[in-house]
Amino acid sequence: MNKYLKELIELSKYDKKMADLVPLEENIKKPLTQLQVKIKNLTNKLEKLEEEIKNLLLKKSKNELLISELKEKLNKIAEKISKVKTIRESKALALEEDLAKEQIEAANEEIAKFEKAIEAKKEQKDEIKKEIEQLEAECVIVQSDIQSKLDVLEEQKQAIFKNKEKLVQSMDSKIYKFYEKIKKWAGNSAVSPVKKQACMGCFMKINEKTYIDVIKSDEITTCPHCGRVLYIEEE
Ligand SMILES: [Zn+2]
Repeated sequence: MNKYLKELIELSKYDKKMADLVPLEENIKKPLTQLQVKIKNLTNKLEKLEEEIKNLLLKKSKNELLISELKEKLNKIAEKISKVKTIRESKALALEEDLAKEQIEAANEEIAKFEKAIEAKKEQKDEIKKEIEQLEAECVIVQSDIQSKLDVLEEQKQAIFKNKEKLVQSMDSKIYKFYEKIKKWAGNSAVSPVKKQACMGCFMKINEKTYIDVIKSDEITTCPHCGRVLYIEEE
């Protein structure tokens, strides 16, 4: 077999092995990931509640401002009443006074309503915080449970990585670049086996001449349809 072809097959096998570890790792991390998603959702809820509380506080302070303005108005009315000259004037001021008092009462009711809502939201926040704390504690336990599995996986990754590096170092850089170019669009099937005279990358049947070239494997042969490097997989 052509030396370069042999290297390309080996290289692609390392890449495939590495890619196969990804779902394995995801599977190991799954219980942790699920907890992290829950925490993230709760944290979002917490932020939303904080935003709502902020809005309620703003509404409350607007009403407080309104009350202080109305109180000032009442002071002025009182001053005018002390200097009043006609009954008509006095009646008008009394009406104004009543209106301001009613407005103050309404604003106070609003404030009480907002305070109640703020209190309820603060309680919700405390509950969520407790939930998050529990989940975080669970995360620590799960993390220590899966750590040994992750360590084994990491060792496997390192071994594949080292072997691949060693191979890449020894390879002709043109061949390596050629592989990387195909890999850009073909991913880990840049080097594909031929089965039943068909390229296993694009699943198209290859012609007789190409098939014979692939079997001989004296040269690097690419698929006439897709351009992947072809080879016959040894049993
Ligand atoms: Zn093909």
